[in-house]
Formats: sequence, C-alpha cells, structure tokens
Amino acid sequence: MSDAAPAATATEVPATAVPHAASEVTVHRSLSPSRAADFLTCPLLYRFRVIDRLPEPPSPAAARGTLVHAVLERLFDEPAPGRTPTVARGLVLPQWERLATAEPELASLFADEEQRAVWLDEASAMLDRYFTLEDPTRLEPAHREMSVQTVLDSGLTLRGYIDRLDVARSGEVRIVDYKTGTAPREEYEARALFQMKFYALVVWRTSGAIPRQLQLIYLGNGEIMRCAPDEAELLATERKINALWQAIERARATGDWRPRQSRLCDWCAHQALCPVFGGTPPPLPASPAPIASSVPAPRSIPEAGPTVAPGAEPALTDAAPAGSAAPAVSG
Ligand code: SF4
Repeated sequence: MSDAAPAATATEVPATAVPHAASEVTVHRSLSPSRAADFLTCPLLYRFRVIDRLPEPPSPAAARGTLVHAVLERLFDEPAPGRTPTVARGLVLPQWERLATAEPELASLFADEEQRAVWLDEASAMLDRYFTLEDPTRLEPAHREMSVQTVLDSGLTLRGYIDRLDVARSGEVRIVDYKTGTAPREEYEARALFQMKFYALVVWRTSGAIPRQLQLIYLGNGEIMRCAPDEAELLATERKINALWQAIERARATGDWRPRQSRLCDWCAHQALCPVFGGTPPPLPASPAPIASSVPAPRSIPEAGPTVAPGAEPALTDAAPAGSAAPAVSG
C-alpha cells in the first residue's frame, strides 16, 4: 500500500448504501442473513418472526450486543489517537441512555440499579477485550453500519447491515462483523461464515470485486475468525441462498413451517406457541402479508465513515491467515 495512492473514499466503496429504513421494511422476495439463519435453525421460528411478526421481549444479551455495537461505531468518530479503552468505556453510559430513550422497554430489563451496573460492566469488559484484538488507532473504516442490498438473477433481494467495511488503498475490501458471544465450536463455524459470505456476495454483486477478507470478531472470548472467500465459494453461497429461498416459498405455499428442536430452543421467545414444548401456533394469517424483509432494525443510526486516512490503514493481508473454505452450511 503506497502513501501516494489515492485514498479510498466512501463513494468508491461499493455503491450499495441505500436509504436507511426506520425498522423493518416490507419487501417481496427479500432475505437477510439473520432471517436466513432463522429458517436454517428452525422454519417455525422463521414463521413466527417473519410471517406472524410476533413481538419478542428484549433480552439482556441482545441489548448488550446492541450497546457494544453502538459504542464501537461511535468510537470511530474520535480522531485516531483518541480511540482508547478509556474513551470506549466513557461512551458506554451515554450510548445506553440513548438506546434506552429510543426503546423505553429496555429499561424493564433490570430489577434495580445494581443489576444494571453489573450489566454495563460486562459490556465494558467486552470493549476492553476488543482492544486486545484490534488497534482502532490504525484503522479508518470506510463504512460503519452500512446498509447493503442487491438483487440476484433469481429475482431475490438480499439485504442487510455490515458492521464495518474497511477499504485499503489498494482497493481491497474487508468486511468486519462484531459478535458479543463466543466463537462457535468447529461444527458451527460454517454457519457463522455463511452470514459473512452472504454479505460478501452482496458486496461482490454491487461492486464487482470480491472482498479480500471476512472477519468475525468475537468479543465474548476474544477470538477472531477470518476467511478469504473466492469466486467459487460465493457462487456456492448464491446457490445455497436461492435453494433456501425456494424452501421458504414451499413452506409458505404449503403452510408447513415445521419446528426443528435444537439447543437454540433455550433462547427462543416462542416456546409457549411451539408444538415441541406443548404449545399451539396461532392460525396463519388468512391473507398472508408479503414476506417481510428480514432486515432487522439497525443497531444504531447507520452512517458512512470518513475516508481512509493516509498511512492509517494497514494492508488487509496483515495478520490474515490463509482463508479457510467453509463447508456448505448444513440446513
Ligand atoms: S422453541 Fe425451538 S423448535 Fe420451537 S419455534 Fe422456537 S426454535 Fe423452533
């Protein structure tokens, strides 16, 4: 990477940014990584979330994820030298207050101040861990919380939000996703990478360039998972997404949204309506609404980041092990 090379700008990075919706957007034939993962996990869960649109109560773990993402996004508003653990910790409370103001139901998560303080400390500990994995003073993201979408040849729209997109002066793109959980065991890695390849496919289809690197940062246990996708992998991802969508359309046509029990049921908000747990799903909507886009509400207001500062961005190949080809995601 040469200092003389022109800095990449936000507008040079895939022209994928689209106006940000307030929350969920109703779109025909549209899929996001989150809802694709729902269907892979359990078709009935997908139905509850996308067809029935059942509300789900906030959870401390999900809210903590939202908070940590918001802090990491804001951290890059600071001039590079100011991106320190102390500054990140100082952002925790104001960001929490901002989120709680926007979503008053979050306040109900805690019985008292003490419980909330413990929870905030856990979020701060995750942020401390972030600094053991990356040096944000050497990064200038091209985009944060970037809304992306593309339409496949099949007509299916892919949508989602990318936590962070880095662009080196060479033009190489790195897609970064923060996870507040722990890195998955080996048998679940393919599913984690599927989400990243989904994003890589969208960026490839909109920019014409395959991202150089996909990076998952697990703040729960301080691990990083990296992958360098190639064309064959992204074509395979596209085939898998199209096949997944066909399965969703079949379920929608037949009304056969069968439950799939797994350890993830422990975190499911809809056990009371699930036959696996003795419940009965509500009747399907008489006139099914268009399948809602699987775009979740952005964790915070998305925005384009600054341009890459001269000398600030290390080559994307730094510290990047050879990419691993993930096996097909098992459904
Ligand atoms: S409890 Fe388990 S099987 Fe039932 S809907 Fe939720 S994830 Fe699916």
